[in-house]
Parts: sequence; structure tokens; C-alpha cells
Amino acid sequence: MHTISPIGTIRTPYKEKFAIPRQPNLAPTVTTELHLVGEANTEASVRELKQFSHLWLLFLFDQNIESGWKPTVRPPRLGGNERVGVFASRSTFRPNAIGMSAVELIDVELQQGQVVIKLGNVDLVDGTPIIDIKPYIPYSDSIPDAIGGYADSAPNPVDVHFSAAAEAVLQQHQDGRYRKQALSEILAQDPRPAYKKGKPDPKTYAVSLFEWNVSFIATDNCIAVQNIAPLAQSD
Ligand code: SAH
Repeated sequence: MHTISPIGTIRTPYKEKFAIPRQPNLAPTVTTELHLVGEANTEASVRELKQFSHLWLLFLFDQNIESGWKPTVRPPRLGGNERVGVFASRSTFRPNAIGMSAVELIDVELQQGQVVIKLGNVDLVDGTPIIDIKPYIPYSDSIPDAIGGYADSAPNPVDVHFSAAAEAVLQQHQDGRYRKQALSEILAQDPRPAYKKGKPDPKTYAVSLFEWNVSFIATDNCIAVQNIAPLAQSD
């Protein structure tokens, strides 16, 4: 047996699993940071990394390890009803709980001894342990005529609207424009469980994004953000 130890921790606006895009490039405005840890946190380990525009991140679905896994899963792309083999899916419940995402590399910085790798959007909860980084190599990793099975194209985004109250909170924030665009792209993925689609949905949803609690209601083609409030402090 080999023991795997994290080489870094990711910092993202996603404070819980709910509403995280299901793949990394679906909310292109959102930026994130990877902070290396332990022996991996040296300038030497990222030498010449900046030559590459994209990286593969390998990580642990750490919030699901306790839950175990099953040989078949119901992918949201199939409406959450049909079963496929776990290895024919990107399910987060896997025998070794390992995930992988191809992400944009924006910059590599050394901040007082801390290696900080600035990245584009990822599909990861804030704090997810990263277990490896590899450069994305287009001549081999990009296969333009590959067939994507039941996930052959990106899901259709829905429209996102903001109430006057939500707009006011965004406008007051120094990164308000970025955050509005980020929230639009994230919620346009319709984070609700697949089985909610095609039915009336009276529920008000709430999700922790950035340091905000964002509430919204949804129909099949529109999400309406009702309120944006500071997250309650947990300590
Ligand atoms: N691109 C990766 C992950 C796809 S699944 C892969 O294909 O392997 C993406 C989902 O993982 C997110 O929508 C979120 O619900 C879930 N997720 C993100 N971080 C997680 C974590 N630390 N533990 C468990 N689940 C996580």
C-alpha cells in the first residue's frame, strides 16, 4: 500500500458541494488559488510550470470518502434516473475517491515562502486536498474527434436574474462586477437535483458562495436570485 498525502489546498468561492459546477470550465469567470503545502511547497517544485497554459489537477473527493461507493451510479446528465457503471461516469463516489480536472493556469507566485498557483475555475469545494499537478499537454491530452458518450456537449445554461436587493449588495462590493458574473455563470448551471426538472418547484434554495449566503428560486429555464446576505460566522 502506498500512502497519498496532499501537495496543496485549493481556495475557491464554493463553500459547500451544492451549486458547484459539475465540471471545471462551465463558469469561466471564476478564479481560484492553489496553495502548496509541506515538502511540495518549494519554488523548485514549480520551476518552469508557467510555460504551460493549462494543468491537470488530481484531488480527493474528501467530503465523500466516508460514504463509500457503488458499482453503478445515476449521472445528472441522464436525468438522474438511468444507471451506468461508476467507471463510465465522473461520479464523486469512487473506489479511491480521486478526481481530476483540467484547468487554466493564470500565474505562479511566491508569497513570503508560500507557493501560490493562480488558476481559472475549478469544480471543487474550498479546501479540497490536491494530490498532484501535471502540465496539460495538448498534442496528447486534447483529442478533437473524441466521442463524449452521454455527456457529448455542455449542459444548456438557464437565465439568471437578480432581485433589486441582490443587485444592491453586488453593487456595494468592490468586486461586485466580477461576483455578479461569477454568480450568473455558476447558477446558470441549474444546481438543483436532476429530478426537479420538468416539475413545478416552490422551494427557496440557499447556497454558500464567497462569504455569502445566496438564496434563489428556480424554474426549468430561469433562476431568480432573491437575496445575498453575509454567512453566519461559525466560530
Ligand atoms: N472534474 C472532476 C470532478 C467532477 S464532479 C472529475 O471529473 O473527476 C464535480 C463535483 O464534485 C462538484 O460539482 C461537487 O459537487 C463535487 N465536489 C467538489 N469538491 C468535492 C470534495 N472535496 N469532496 C466531495 N465532492 C466534491
